[in-house]
Amino acid sequence: MSDPIARMAWLVHELNRHNRLYHEANAPEITDLAYDALFRELQALEAAHPHDVIAESPTRSVGAGVVPELKPFVHERPMLSLQNGYHKAEPAWGGPWEDLIEWERGKPDPEKPGRLGGLRRHLGGEAPERITYMVEPKLDGLAIELVYENGAFVAGGTRGDGTVGEDVTHNLRTIQNLPKRLAGAPPGRITVRGEVLFDLAGFERMNAEREARGERRFENPRNSAAGTIRQLDSSQAKDRPLQFFAHSAGELPDPPSHHSELLAQFRAWGFTVSPLCQRCEGLDAAIQAVRDIEAARSNLAYEIDGAVVKVDDVAMQEQLGFVTRSPRWALAFKYLPAQVQTRLASVLFSVGRTGQVTPVAQLEPARVGGVTVRNASLHNEHQMVRILGLRVGDRVVIQRAGDVIPEVVAGVDEPGRLDRPLFAYPAVCPECQHPLVRALSDESRPEMVQIRCPNTFGCPAQVGGGLRHFASRLAMDIEGLGEKLVDQLVAAKLARKPSDLYALAARRAELVALDRFGETSAQNLLNAIEGSKQRPLERCLLALGVPMVGESTAKELARHFRSIDAILAADIPALDAVPNIALTTATAIRGFFDDSENRAEVAALQAAGVRFVPPSVPTGGALTGKTFVLTGTLPTLGRDQMKQKIEVAGGKVSGSVSKKTDFVVAGAEAGSKLDKAVELGVPVIDEAGMLAMIEGEGA
Ligand SMILES: [Zn+2]
Repeated sequence: MSDPIARMAWLVHELNRHNRLYHEANAPEITDLAYDALFRELQALEAAHPHDVIAESPTRSVGAGVVPELKPFVHERPMLSLQNGYHKAEPAWGGPWEDLIEWERGKPDPEKPGRLGGLRRHLGGEAPERITYMVEPKLDGLAIELVYENGAFVAGGTRGDGTVGEDVTHNLRTIQNLPKRLAGAPPGRITVRGEVLFDLAGFERMNAEREARGERRFENPRNSAAGTIRQLDSSQAKDRPLQFFAHSAGELPDPPSHHSELLAQFRAWGFTVSPLCQRCEGLDAAIQAVRDIEAARSNLAYEIDGAVVKVDDVAMQEQLGFVTRSPRWALAFKYLPAQVQTRLASVLFSVGRTGQVTPVAQLEPARVGGVTVRNASLHNEHQMVRILGLRVGDRVVIQRAGDVIPEVVAGVDEPGRLDRPLFAYPAVCPECQHPLVRALSDESRPEMVQIRCPNTFGCPAQVGGGLRHFASRLAMDIEGLGEKLVDQLVAAKLARKPSDLYALAARRAELVALDRFGETSAQNLLNAIEGSKQRPLERCLLALGVPMVGESTAKELARHFRSIDAILAADIPALDAVPNIALTTATAIRGFFDDSENRAEVAALQAAGVRFVPPSVPTGGALTGKTFVLTGTLPTLGRDQMKQKIEVAGGKVSGSVSKKTDFVVAGAEAGSKLDKAVELGVPVIDEAGMLAMIEGEGA
């Protein structure tokens, strides 16, 4: 793609999709490194084309949204993300650690050898010859903020988008090493930040127990930790070996003057702080500490994916300030992903809910970074055949980058290897024997080829997958309709499409006759199905399995159109006009609802009594019934963040000023909207005033 604007649109779409996979489905498809590379490409393009920045660009927000079931958790001070540096496999000028050197000193410029760069440029002549750093392991867990009042643990939440996360207090209470009361803490409110993660030995033990009970193994400690912490019911968290490590403070009544003292304070209060944290005089010592942590990595009881280097002196931190949304005084330095060799036993072709066929490598079990790996992603045909050229029985290099499904990155050359046959994609669906179809959306990108089984309502993998998705917790939440029962219903020809579920009441006798089923289970299932008719519109949209529509897009659609009929009637421009919905998504939504089978299915669901309940206007918040318009650049919050805060508090954010506007929130370089507000006599407030109002102090 040579057109930079089209490339930007593609990057925004891809990055948002990966964000959703990562944050909402806990199932990332690409490594952090690959994600960061795409992210930086987008940042560079946006810097070169500032007028064409797309509103839903992920560079404008820190992360993903909130699951509706958990209460929102508002961070008093935004939880920022750190700037990243990378262990360079192919360094340009400074060796593997050049990102660290560049961070402190800037890139060397042979033309101006004496020029100060990096942190030193911002510190000017006052900087000491050796800056003191704290070097800490970068724990690969779930970022959490804890709130203590007068020394007692009162609440905790996930990071979310940095401004609003999810309240997960009930699960955090079950973590043994998380202090419920601080030893000798000062009175008042304290917020402590850190990571929740699995103890690896405990993780392996838990997997062995799950296997013994015939349950599926958890593949990945980070995702399992996130999944556990976001459960509504804390009985699972209680039995899982999670731990909390403290690493920074949010609010503190009397903050110490050095970060190292803060960590000592945390320990004194009863928190676990990683023993690998080291105070270092000067960059050389800091780099040595980064190497020491990397050397210790494979023997640690928990997962890390890098080291964080922070300026120790808090006064110096304040002098250095921020780069966009990250502190300038800290750098997260990421190690190369852990790799190991093993043998490829076979390749399994799995058929997804949408019919897409993907190859999964079946491996001789291998330990990578403390976790046993049996399956690894081969991504797609292009990767498997053209890039890797995998053959039956190959020795392969697998890589595990923290939170991503392990992947096969290379085949190892061995004598006789080329005599063995290549792995090939099947010509027919492994589940239903229907011939597979290939679709290439972009001729210049052969890796984007999709191989699908087109037998949507006849292929057991798609029928079962579609029904499971429909009944899942975030969608229609039909309790008891799990994997086994779905398979039974499909096998007994009791259900093929979601609407068939609502006809089960009339086929009760057949239901009761299912193996290991009875009157009581049948009644419970029918009750759960009946109850699902009252699900809100956004969950119904998610349940339908519209391509590219995840939780947040479903929510936007519901909020904007307010009825399923309005969505069915919306053309592409109308869909594209919805906030945070890109043209590609709008086109995919329209395509889905133009399909006659899908339209018939929506009609069948409506006829069965599924109500697609429109969203209600939130009530009870401090801002209920008030309309706000945002203009200009706010000093600390992004516009999307402020919008979200206002909406969480029950307010509405509108794009233009009218007599109906209650307040205009103006930041720097506010334009015509501010003039309009003055003209109409609409009150104008600043960010601080807005935040006070959200807290219920103002207006
Ligand atoms: Zn099939």
